[in-house]
Amino acid sequence: MTPPCPAHIETVSVHAGREADASAAALSPPLHLSTTFVREADGSFPHGYTYSRAGNPNRAALETCLAALEAGCDAMAFSSGTAAAMTVFQALNPGDHVICSRDVYHGVLRLLREVLMPWQLKVSFVDASKTDEVHRAVTPATRLIWVETPSNPLLKLTDLAAIAEIGRDAKALSVCDNTFATPVLQRPFEHGIDFSMHSTTKYLGGHSDVLGGAIVARKHNALAERIRFLQSTGGAVPAPFDCWLLLRGAATLPLRVRAQSANALTIAHHLAAHKAVEEVFYPGLESHPGHALATRQMRGYGAVLSFTLRGGEAAAMQTAARVQLFVRATSLGGVESLIEHRASMEGPESHTPRNLLRLSVGVEHTDDLIADLDQALSG
Ligand SMILES: *Cc1c(COP(=O)(O)O)cnc(C)c1O
Repeated sequence: MTPPCPAHIETVSVHAGREADASAAALSPPLHLSTTFVREADGSFPHGYTYSRAGNPNRAALETCLAALEAGCDAMAFSSGTAAAMTVFQALNPGDHVICSRDVYHGVLRLLREVLMPWQLKVSFVDASKTDEVHRAVTPATRLIWVETPSNPLLKLTDLAAIAEIGRDAKALSVCDNTFATPVLQRPFEHGIDFSMHSTTKYLGGHSDVLGGAIVARKHNALAERIRFLQSTGGAVPAPFDCWLLLRGAATLPLRVRAQSANALTIAHHLAAHKAVEEVFYPGLESHPGHALATRQMRGYGAVLSFTLRGGEAAAMQTAARVQLFVRATSLGGVESLIEHRASMEGPESHTPRNLLRLSVGVEHTDDLIADLDQALSG
């Protein structure tokens, strides 16, 4: 019998992957630290587990939850978002062609340029917000199209339905890095995208205390099978406690993401009217070039925004130096608000404007966050 499938993400996030524990009827799932599992006398393993790299109950529970959150058929959890991305590319073959948005997470660009292109993966970097540029990059060897929307750190929007269609026509699979939006605000599979990728380090964990990544598949296919094979064969698996923390984080994902997203919109409007600010990059603002697409494609605009300062790089550095409530740190998606001079983090190859600051807006009260930004900007 198929269990009833709750349709609402608020319900899914609390219940998916959380069957009551049979051994002690504990409500909170037990942590299975064991690396190995006892076999029956005949050598069988009716619980399905043999060795923790191949499978672990905490990872299985997290994967059930992640698949349900995206309404996909399967999810594979990894030790980091980067390990998840690496595994997708390793599931291809040397000589295969990938189209990748130029505006993706800098670590993914570095993986492609410094590890996978030397391994003979062919990669074309495009501006994926311009669909015809993606179309023109297709070759007979194209196997994968990788996009991230909204992108980092300029919050550019990519039309997921258009990307999925180009992929289908080219017999290539499409991947959306859905870390910024989360399944709460963006559902890549509804637009025909084949894989949703996450750095679960960010909103899924939500408390800046666990590193993880995931690939969720819309439907069964050979690439998903290969990714599953490489998860245990490559071994970049998350620890049981990391899976436990991520499953706990998932329960409050919709509450946190909506609160953070609402806070970000308030802050974006405030900054847009501030005299020290040159430009605000946030898809929730009508002035943003991706606003109409974001309104169509998303259920909220997310909690990351960036802005440039009229006073140049010096003003950006001074503002970041003066904040008292915002924390000067990289990363995003936690309950605490962070501020970052992105170009410093990205290093010499960065194309990010030197006068840009990126905010990851947390769950604090916006009056306090705005007061902090105002004192830092006016110093
Ligand atoms: C952080 C991040 C990654 C990389 O994930 P890690 O967990 O740090 O390895 C990939 N994509 C996006 C959009 C990210 O923000």
